[in-house]
Amino acid sequence: MNTIPPVDLTRQHKVISQEVEAQVLEVLRSGRYIGGAAVANFESEFARYTGTKYSVGCNSGTDALYMALRALEIGVGDEVITTPLTFIATSEVIVRVGAKPVFVDIDPDTFNFDLEQVATAITKNTKAIIAVHLFGQPIDMTALMAIAKSHNIYVIEDCAQATGASWDNQKVGSIGDVGCFSFFPTKTLGACGDGGALTTNREAIADKIKLLREHGLIREISNKVTYRHKLTGLNSRLDTLQATILSIKLKYLDTWNQQRQQAANNYQQLLQLIPNIKLPSALSGGNSVWNQYTIRIFNQSTTTDTARDILRSRLQQKGVIAMIYYPLSLHLQPVYQDLNYQLGSLPNVEQVAQEVLSLPLFPEITFEEQQQVVYCLKDCLVDY
Ligand SMILES: *Cc1c(COP(=O)(O)O)cnc(C)c1O
Repeated sequence: MNTIPPVDLTRQHKVISQEVEAQVLEVLRSGRYIGGAAVANFESEFARYTGTKYSVGCNSGTDALYMALRALEIGVGDEVITTPLTFIATSEVIVRVGAKPVFVDIDPDTFNFDLEQVATAITKNTKAIIAVHLFGQPIDMTALMAIAKSHNIYVIEDCAQATGASWDNQKVGSIGDVGCFSFFPTKTLGACGDGGALTTNREAIADKIKLLREHGLIREISNKVTYRHKLTGLNSRLDTLQATILSIKLKYLDTWNQQRQQAANNYQQLLQLIPNIKLPSALSGGNSVWNQYTIRIFNQSTTTDTARDILRSRLQQKGVIAMIYYPLSLHLQPVYQDLNYQLGSLPNVEQVAQEVLSLPLFPEITFEEQQQVVYCLKDCLVDY
């Protein structure tokens, strides 16, 4: 039997190879590799796609998050509330600006942070909330914005796993103060390398981000480089090549996300009635893009390995590669020892981290492959 990978980017490239390869060659031959019309075009297309006034390209999702915090002037003495079930980048940037990450427990059904816990965690030092739309599933942004507004707190949306998702018919990244996107190759809109973008409806924030991404450089109307610098920034541009590729891929994004939705529906059907697993649930107001299809494997194992870990290695032996996002909640990470969270302090996420298993899902996965995944899963679940 063939191996079924968690993602397969070669299949996606085949669909668009002619277009991409021709335009990449054009950029290579042009001799212009930084900036230019390709970047500006992608930024305006992405703003239009997300329904925002401004979009600023940058080097990665991590830099997007970092610059969002800097643009909102969050730093020493400030607290930023976020989820402990996310990629480390989300909290890393909070520490990098000198602020303190405050982790709140998750809702085990949606995998996103629990809004009641968010409200409870707000103190006089809270300046912002980083809302992560994990696995492509949007947070209830109506409720979150109401909480933030009543306390005068910023909302930064971490849309790294959710490009194209929407809440109440508004695209993620257009509802909070700033949206942060990653174009890492395995995200729903992926570059052929690193890339990222920010979105906002506020001109002042967009202007500040443009300064930050280029060493705080003041540009004149003529766009001439002045070598005059207004603030301490970084080098975080979106490459001309990546912008060129992203503009092509953006045209396909809705189709690819529909294919993901279809694949998720297939799993939902095929996995019904299997005992000891829980399927992901989607909130009715949201439109998920299923960057991951994550199930929970309930633990009845008597050994030190969790049922999930045993299942995962058995699946691997059968050629089905499933992933664990994330095996250790951020509040228990060695790097955050000084924040003094104890084991047991966020019980939902601690349990879920031992149960999650993400099954192969990408737009081009075939129904037969999904049947094979489910067949193997049933087979491996029978006897532990
Ligand atoms: C991928 C990811 C990031 C970081 O994006 P990069 O482009 O890899 O820097 C941030 N947050 C979440 C939730 C992610 O999945």
